[in-house]
Amino acid sequence: MKDLKPIVDDIKPLIIAGPCSAESEKQVMETASQLAENGIKIFRAGIWKPRTKPGGFEGVGAEGLAWMRRVKEELGMLTATEVATRQHVKEALAAGIDILWIGARTSANPFAMQEIADTLAEAQMPELPVLVKNPVNPDLELWIGALQRIYNAGIRRLGAIHRGFSVYGKHLYRNMPQWHIPIELRRRLPQLPIVCDPSHIGGKRELIAPLSQQSLNMGFDGLIIESHCSPDEAWSDASQQVTPETLDLILNTLVAPTSSQSTENLSALRQQIDRIDNELIELLNKRMRVSREIGQFKKEHSMPVVQAGRYDDIMQTRRKLAEQMGMSGDFMAAVLTAIHEESVRQQLEILNNNRG
Ligand code: PEP
Ligand code: MN
Repeated sequence: MKDLKPIVDDIKPLIIAGPCSAESEKQVMETASQLAENGIKIFRAGIWKPRTKPGGFEGVGAEGLAWMRRVKEELGMLTATEVATRQHVKEALAAGIDILWIGARTSANPFAMQEIADTLAEAQMPELPVLVKNPVNPDLELWIGALQRIYNAGIRRLGAIHRGFSVYGKHLYRNMPQWHIPIELRRRLPQLPIVCDPSHIGGKRELIAPLSQQSLNMGFDGLIIESHCSPDEAWSDASQQVTPETLDLILNTLVAPTSSQSTENLSALRQQIDRIDNELIELLNKRMRVSREIGQFKKEHSMPVVQAGRYDDIMQTRRKLAEQMGMSGDFMAAVLTAIHEESVRQQLEILNNNRG
C-alpha cells in the first residue's frame, strides 16, 4: 500500500466529530452548526446503526441522508457515515456523503467487507475516503484483510480507526485499547493513516481527553469523537458523548507532539513546573508558620513537641490520599517524614528561643 493518499487534503489536524446517531433534522443541524462554529470541518453521524440486540434504535435510515446533505451544503462541512451493506454504500454515495467508515462489527466479517469492496469498485470513486475500524476482536490480520479488500477496490484515501477491542465483563474501558495492535499495524503499513476513536474505547466522557492525548503521543493521525447537542438525551451511546462546547475544551487541552512544537511545549511545561514549585514552597512555609503556632501553644500548655498518635494519623491519611491520586505511598511517606522533621525542628527552636 505504498501509493496511499491522505484521508483528506488540507484539513489538519484531522478531527471528525458528530453524534453517534443522526436522530432528527433538528439534532443534526444543531450539533453540526455548533461544531462548525468551533472549527470542526468533518461531521460524523450514524444513519444505520448496528445494535447488539433487536428492538434498540437502529438508526433513522435513508431519511437522515437529506439532513447530512443540509450539513454539507449549508455549513460547508464534509460528512461521514457508517456503511455495512451494498445498499448503504449506494445510498450514501448517491446522497453525496463525503467519507465512509466501516464499523467494528462489519470489519470482522469478510463476506460483508467483500460486498462493500465490490460496491466501491463498481462506483469507481478512487478519491473517496474510506476508514476501516478495527474488528471487535483483537485480530490484526482480520483488520489488515479488511483494509486490503478496500484497497483492492481502488480506494487510495484509505485509513484505519482504532476503537478498542471487546472483552467479556466490566472494565475501565468499554473496549480495551490494546495499543500494541495499532502500533503493529503502523509497523506493517507505515503509509496508512490511523485515527483514534476515544469515545468507543473509553465509553465514558471523562476518558476522551486522556485517550486522545495518548493517541497523539503515539503518533496517531487524527481523532473521531462523538459529540451531541444534548448528550444525556442521545438515543445511543449517551454516556460517551460530549457537547460541541466540551469537545472544543478537550481539543484545546491536547498537546500535539510535532517536532517544531515540542521544544515550545517543553519550555511551557517547564514554566508550569517552576510555578508549581514556587507554590509548593509557599505552601510549605505556610504550614511551618502554623506549626510554630502549635509549638507556642504546646509550650504554654507544657505539652511534648512530638505526639506519636497525631503523627501516625497524618501519615496514614496522606498516604492513602496520595495513593488514590496515583502516587506511591512510600514517596508520600518520605515527603511527610521530611516535612515533619522540619516542623519538629522549628517547634523545638521556639521552645528553646523562648526559654533563652
Ligand atoms: C459508531 O461509530 O457509532 C460505532 C457504531 O462504532 P463501532 O463500530 O466502533 O462500535
Ligand atoms: Mn457510537
